[in-house]
Amino acid sequence: MGDCIFCKIVEGEIPSNKVYEDENILAFKDINPLTPIHILVIPKKHIKSINELKPDDEILIGKIFSTVKQIAKEQGISENGYRVVSNCGEDGGQEVKHLHFHILGGKKLGTKIV
Ligand code: AMP
Ligand code: ZN
Repeated sequence: MGDCIFCKIVEGEIPSNKVYEDENILAFKDINPLTPIHILVIPKKHIKSINELKPDDEILIGKIFSTVKQIAKEQGISENGYRVVSNCGEDGGQEVKHLHFHILGGKKLGTKIV
């Protein structure tokens, strides 16, 4: 949508390091990884944030979490554990206004989110 960077990644206009793709979902490596494993999982359709989710998106969000589970397994972090984060809006620190879920793992994370 417009100049959305993640829509451009979906369209292939901006390159990404893809780890998973299907009809509705794309996952790729974060360009600025905060942890040894840092992957972003996004819906291909432009949804701004959690705030813009509609009841019709419930199946999509369920599938995104099944995808998170699968990616964690493939990346070898399932057993040790990982964190899933979606920043929403200004106070949530959301920089890219296209819904995304961070998978963070590969090291022992701090026990506090903030
Ligand atoms: P957020 O603060 O939750 O909006 O996070 C946006 C994330 O997108 C950050 O972790 C960025 O490093 C990441 N990011 C921005 N541009 C790209 C890109 N072109 N490819 C991969 N990750 C990106
Ligand atoms: Zn977008």
